[in-house]
Amino acid sequence: MDEFELIRQYFSDLGQDSSGCVELGVGDDCAIVSPPAGQQLVFSIDTLVEGTHFLPGTPPQQIATRLLGATLSDLAAMGARPGFFTLAITLPESDPAWLAAFAQPLASMAERHGVRLVGGDTTKGPLTLTVQVHGWVEQGKALRRDGAKPGDAVYVTGTLGDSRAGLETLLKKSSVNSDVAYLQQRFYAPEPRLTTAQLLVGLASAAIDVSDGLLADLEHILKASNVGACIELDELPLSPALRRFAGEQQAIDWACSGGEDFEICFTLPASHEEAVLDSLVHHDVPVWRVGEVRQSHGLFVKDATGERPVTARGFNHFSEISE
Ligand code: ADP
Ligand code: MG
Repeated sequence: MDEFELIRQYFSDLGQDSSGCVELGVGDDCAIVSPPAGQQLVFSIDTLVEGTHFLPGTPPQQIATRLLGATLSDLAAMGARPGFFTLAITLPESDPAWLAAFAQPLASMAERHGVRLVGGDTTKGPLTLTVQVHGWVEQGKALRRDGAKPGDAVYVTGTLGDSRAGLETLLKKSSVNSDVAYLQQRFYAPEPRLTTAQLLVGLASAAIDVSDGLLADLEHILKASNVGACIELDELPLSPALRRFAGEQQAIDWACSGGEDFEICFTLPASHEEAVLDSLVHHDVPVWRVGEVRQSHGLFVKDATGERPVTARGFNHFSEISE
């Protein structure tokens, strides 16, 4: 099968144009999109490299859901509505079975979240996948990192640490029981919090998706907003599966510093707390108050033994290399 046939077969009609903005999709030299009136374009790109971001031999289904899930999570963190995406695939060889297995879950996820695939690039080389997603947000309303104020509460959605535990089960080749299956699902198929984040627009003072670990990601909000914060370790949301698999102490460590949970961490002024909690509960979104923003700089954690500054940060690609 040649490259064009491959693209036509698997990637020419994929996903859903929920915002009705796509004028021309896959097949021409470029795609054409008409921005909805009064909306700003927000976009983000993510790459997965075999051996760096996923283990060699990882099933293509799992690569697809992780890739699109992670990029859509960036849109979620800005409070954006999904629009369209592009996809660059580098494959060691033309492998129709691999492509079919990759395209099918990508299509159902794109359909479910209302994003349309409008173009891409297909090349030969070491297995590498890149997605660029584009979404829409009302002019000036994006949830940014720089709006947190002293006295705001710090919230997170869902549970933390599961994805890191899922990775651990893969590295250790743990035998699969229902807890292990759940944790691996959280690693491979992150569910972007798109609806949640749209409910926060105009209400949350800052937001970020948890990709490097809660403490590392919250630190980005604190730096951008020029404030500090304290997190209460006993308030961190831990799943029963994580507690059973890892034990309490390891679970808390992973909740703080394990990456790729793709939950939303946001800060909320007291004046908006009731409205936001009501609407999130109404939409069945689990949400937890885990700390408070402070005027004085620095990130602290607190538990029964007292309060201490954070030293062990989440994973940072560049500091890992340079240290
Ligand atoms: P060009 O050489 O003009 O860049 P390509 O041969 O790379 O064109 O691509 C032909 C068409 O197929 C373009 O519309 C491009 O966006 C689309 N395309 C190529 N690879 C992919 C892919 N992996 N997924 C979606 N669309 C793709
Ligand atoms: Mg090209």
